Amino acid sequence: MYKKDDNVTLAITDLGTDGEGIGKVDGYTVFVKDAIVGDTVEAKIIKAKKNYAYGRLISVIKPSPDRVQPKCPVARACGGCNLQHMDYRAQLRFKEQLVRGNLEHIGGITEYEFFPIIGMDNPYNYRNKAQYPVGKNRSGDTVIGFYAGRTHSIIPNTDCCIGAPQNAGILAIIKKYLDKNKVEPYHEETHTGLVRHILIRTGFATGQIMVCLVINGSKLPNESELIDALSGFAGMTSIMLNENCQRTNVILGDKVRTLWGKSYIEDYIGDILFRISPLSFFQINPSQTRILYEKALEFAALTGNETVWDMYCGIGTISLFLARHAKQVYGVEIVWQAIDDARQNAALNNITNVQFFVGKAEEVVPKVYGEADRGSNMANPDVIVVDPPRKGCDEALLATIAAMSPQRVIYVSCDSATLARDLKYLTAKGYQVAKVQPVDQFGHSVHVECVVLLSKVQK
Ligand code: SAH
Repeated sequence: MYKKDDNVTLAITDLGTDGEGIGKVDGYTVFVKDAIVGDTVEAKIIKAKKNYAYGRLISVIKPSPDRVQPKCPVARACGGCNLQHMDYRAQLRFKEQLVRGNLEHIGGITEYEFFPIIGMDNPYNYRNKAQYPVGKNRSGDTVIGFYAGRTHSIIPNTDCCIGAPQNAGILAIIKKYLDKNKVEPYHEETHTGLVRHILIRTGFATGQIMVCLVINGSKLPNESELIDALSGFAGMTSIMLNENCQRTNVILGDKVRTLWGKSYIEDYIGDILFRISPLSFFQINPSQTRILYEKALEFAALTGNETVWDMYCGIGTISLFLARHAKQVYGVEIVWQAIDDARQNAALNNITNVQFFVGKAEEVVPKVYGEADRGSNMANPDVIVVDPPRKGCDEALLATIAAMSPQRVIYVSCDSATLARDLKYLTAKGYQVAKVQPVDQFGHSVHVECVVLLSKVQK
């Protein structure tokens, strides 16, 4: 048993779900952020419990063969990347183990075909979206960067190596404008000040850029000065203002105003063109997303005659990807702006065999199913795709999926723990996990995306 401020030396033998190193001293478990399997480290105990403790990494006594120098100078302090100090191939192995471990321990699922994770060719500069909080440092200067892990103190960084390279230049222009016009950054505790966040989105295939300033108000001083400075930046397509006057951690408010250019940008995934507005969800790594969707398409085994439901469809990305190979696709999504985009995206790509519903999937789908003719295609889909947020699917939705009884369910997941929980439910309802394919969309973070094929067990 150790206590706070004790120094311990330990060998790291495991990684936790947040990428933290885990090791033992005298049988006592210590979690050490920034340490990896194979390291021997010195750590200071910062919080001691009866059976375990949290330690802060003091020094690496013997580095793991997988340890590398992070590319980013603030990788350790920043809350964005948790694994930059680990060789990318080792990160991929960790993610495979995470998925398999969760399927086994949470879902009780051990028998399925597992495909090795598909990693990125270059795990840098892959993010097409960045949200930078704006604040002040101790000397009162405006700083732009990222939140430190678990806190809201801002680590200044305008040149994030997983983001688009041009973000630094855009942020420099905005910073100059903020300083010159003495625009106050937002202050969370007092709910005063104006600029909260800067959102930058880039269409990697089109080169189009959107900048959206999130402000605690409805107007910026000297807006035209900012517009003049930003609109000349190569690729600038849309300059937007988002109003968020709430005391909240949620970054975006629901009011947007176009300051200059279009109210959206466009990008391709595969050969499908998407229109993206500031409030819509769009996959942050389009080239890996394409790989993911191609897997989903392969697992769906469409011949052109199928009816497909796409739950949590966002701006219709998967729906449209599958529609070209199916008879009819129905999409469901909670954010109405995303559904507006989804409908426009369908029109933009001349896809007419999709229909979108706005609302919570767990409410809309049971309702539509309840009202549909029992013999209709809508109530008897061949394939159902789900792509829920991290918390996974609501049980009411899973129950309706089981009732609709499609031949195949394709589960696209960004959290293998909730995936495993939901697979457990579906396997109890007559489905079997056939194939699991992880695809790395988020290099240097602990997140891992998976696509899973479930097939109906033939009675
Ligand atoms: N399939 C899309 C979006 C996946 S992200 C794509 O690949 O781009 C998950 C989506 O689920 C988000 O668009 C989010 O707005 C939506 N969502 C969250 N909770 C929901 C719910 N209860 N019902 C329907 N959609 C929901």
